[in-house]
Amino acid sequence: MKQKEITLNSLLNEDTIDLNMLNSEEVGNDHLATSMNTPLRADAFEMDDETKIQKIEQHFQSIMEIMGLDLTDDSLKGTPHRVAKMYIKEIFSGLNPANKPKIALFDNKYKYNQMLVEKDITFYSNCEHHFVPIFGKAHLAYISSGKVIGLSKLNRIVQYFAKRPQVQERLTVQIATELKKVLNTEDVAVVIDAKHLCVSSRGIQDTNASTVTSFYGGKFQNAGVKEEFLQYIQLKTEL
Ligand SMILES: [Zn+2]
Repeated sequence: MKQKEITLNSLLNEDTIDLNMLNSEEVGNDHLATSMNTPLRADAFEMDDETKIQKIEQHFQSIMEIMGLDLTDDSLKGTPHRVAKMYIKEIFSGLNPANKPKIALFDNKYKYNQMLVEKDITFYSNCEHHFVPIFGKAHLAYISSGKVIGLSKLNRIVQYFAKRPQVQERLTVQIATELKKVLNTEDVAVVIDAKHLCVSSRGIQDTNASTVTSFYGGKFQNAGVKEEFLQYIQLKTEL
């Protein structure tokens, strides 16, 4: 399997990447992220979910009609509403901060001070440039600073940030930033290995390519610690 790895530490402290040299079409075609924050307008959540679903339904119906589809057909009739509901309630529900998982931490009673690795977290996201799926595995690790997190919460953090129109680099950094914040430590690592349907099912149609992105914070920048983590997840990448 071909993999290209992108390490994102250098991007984390820069809110904006200088893409002035590129026009928006090139940015989208090359799947570059312009910002580590999801580009949202200030009024993004003034409209309630039900109104959003209604409006998207109308627009999606127009798209289907423009393409010449017969919406009186029983199989297609319900599609605009299904798509609208799926967008708001499921696959893009992570845009809304109200859906952010509540994280409870526990005292590290066992004084476990080694790295904790949660690997092979399956996620489904969508490319913000084509609105087709990105899916793969996320591998997370941290070294406790005195508190520990419920394992299912690591999974929930991944799912929350995946349920947005995304680029893989931003997904990686958003997960790492959230882990650092909730665990109150710099010692976190995130590796994401994913396939992009916009690469395999259209465009260049490369079905074997997968993209690896990584973030190594604090102690994980130490070569030995990083190697231990990569051995646990058994992902041998050129670093
Ligand atoms: Zn794409």
